[in-house]
Amino acid sequence: MASPLVTLNDGRLMPQLGLGVYKVNQDIAVQLVQTAIEIGYRRVDTAALYDNEAEVGAAIRKSGLDREEIFVTSKIWNDRHGYREAKEAIQESVNRLNIGYVDMMLIHWPCPKQDKFVETWHAFEEVLETGLVKSIGVSNFHQHHLEKLLAASNVVPAINQVELHPQLAQNSLRHFNKQHNIKTEAWAPLGRAKFLENPLLVEIAQSLGKSVAQVIIRWHLQLQNLVIPKSSNPDRLAENFDVFDFELSQHQMGIIATLNTETRIATNPDDMN
Ligand code: NAD
Repeated sequence: MASPLVTLNDGRLMPQLGLGVYKVNQDIAVQLVQTAIEIGYRRVDTAALYDNEAEVGAAIRKSGLDREEIFVTSKIWNDRHGYREAKEAIQESVNRLNIGYVDMMLIHWPCPKQDKFVETWHAFEEVLETGLVKSIGVSNFHQHHLEKLLAASNVVPAINQVELHPQLAQNSLRHFNKQHNIKTEAWAPLGRAKFLENPLLVEIAQSLGKSVAQVIIRWHLQLQNLVIPKSSNPDRLAENFDVFDFELSQHQMGIIATLNTETRIATNPDDMN
């Protein structure tokens, strides 16, 4: 079965479930992305930081799919903030991927202490006009970063990709994003496998004959999050994509909601430079 498609605020379609490739080494990246495409994934989330854009692009070129059939996201790193730097960084990612255009380019972190993300966003807005990137968005933006960005720019980010999992449900930010027609995307959607033995999740998974990872991915889908679990294991890749034939009840969604303590497992964006 294929992933559902989500319509972005710029009218483009994006598969709701995709593959994240953070910490996927270059030597396995081509094969892993090819395997994912064979399973049915049509979206890959990479970044300049991950040092595997070239391999992601190579896998897509080898796949035989038409370019429009696959959606690729990349991100510029924190040392490339600023108008001229950001433009160059986007061009470098486009070159490394070598698949024509990039579907979605993100500012990886706002880095508020640098105080340049508005300037960076203006570069993104201009690159959008060239067609080198088809959609633009942000990552790790708190509401107050978005408020500053929205007040000083013309293009509303298509997505805000943030740490989001049952322990950090980001309810308030998800609400703000929705009000501004920004899709919320969950990174570390499985909490980096930290909660896979949680008894409440295990009980739900057992009652449905599914794995805990599948239950968490389903929770994201039902909350309308975009979601990009990562695995280097082909069986788990298939497992994480096999989530379209069941539904969590409102009661089960409610049980998972009780796990939310709004606690991060990674850095708070305000502290990242
Ligand atoms: P994740 O929550 O996807 O967890 C990944 C880990 O979970 C894997 O290493 C694997 O050990 C385990 N796992 C995956 N599937 C499993 C399964 N079915 N059963 C058991 N264990 C399983 O964490 P992540 O990789 O940090 O996040 C996903 C993606 O989000 C990344 O690959 C990357 O693309 C993106 N990301 C973005 C940012 C950002 O700042 N924008 C930061 C981190 C990650």
